[in-house]
Amino acid sequence: MLWLVTCLCFCVSAQGALKYVDLTFAFGEDTMQLPSYSAFEHQKTSRGYMSGGYWFESNDICLSEHSGTHLDAPAHYAEGKWTVDQIPLERLVGPAVVMDISDKVSQNATAELSADDVTTWLETHGPIPDGAIVLVKTGWAKFYGNITAYIGPDARNPVFPGISPSAANVLVDYERMTGHQVVGVGLDAPSLDHGLALDFPTHQELAQANIYGLENVGNLELLPTTGAMLTVLPMKIRGGSGGPTRILATLPDTSGSSLSQQSVESLLMAHGLLFLMLRLLSDSC
Ligand SMILES: [Zn+2]
Repeated sequence: MLWLVTCLCFCVSAQGALKYVDLTFAFGEDTMQLPSYSAFEHQKTSRGYMSGGYWFESNDICLSEHSGTHLDAPAHYAEGKWTVDQIPLERLVGPAVVMDISDKVSQNATAELSADDVTTWLETHGPIPDGAIVLVKTGWAKFYGNITAYIGPDARNPVFPGISPSAANVLVDYERMTGHQVVGVGLDAPSLDHGLALDFPTHQELAQANIYGLENVGNLELLPTTGAMLTVLPMKIRGGSGGPTRILATLPDTSGSSLSQQSVESLLMAHGLLFLMLRLLSDSC
């Protein structure tokens, strides 16, 4: 089976017709986190030519596990569930589906993805694929870097959109209803729960089901509603409740390409097969 995975990897990379989209905000002075978490710090420790004549630079970083674009491990809100290093690798690669609530967020800053929104999405776009990572596009990322706009002017009463616990419940229950498992849920806002939420019920609902969260996700406007594959790479912190995360979306690049429809379809099929192989390998290990 490994030879097949290797062949598929070669097939995808050799054709070079895939587009990669980075969904991660760079870490720096404008890194956003909720007020209860430590701010990101980047301290130069060395920079310059050494006595041997070569260049050398190095820095220290200090940050919360929940700074910037990051993953919430299930252990963040559910005792005994997976810490960030325990999340199985096959759950960190999967098809992305994007649910867009940016219209209602533009009318109400603390709007949430509702259970009805999920139902409407399913009626419009069909079933959520097995192993999917559901991303909620709120449009809030346009405020990233401006703490007053992103979190709200009063840190004790934060203002931003989120995902309702009833919508989270539908996504948790989706596997029982259809056999298709949602492995992760993310959004382009500071927290899975909206700014006014008490006791973080959406975090609790997802964490209890060992579904991880992704927060402060960027560039969701560059993703199609379906068809992208995600690779989610959180820092492997032993016992971590989460960690800074590079999120990469892969989709076919049809811009200005002479690629035929058939080639695009075979590339996507190869990528899909690669994903299936990874899941089969993990099931058989
Ligand atoms: Zn978090």
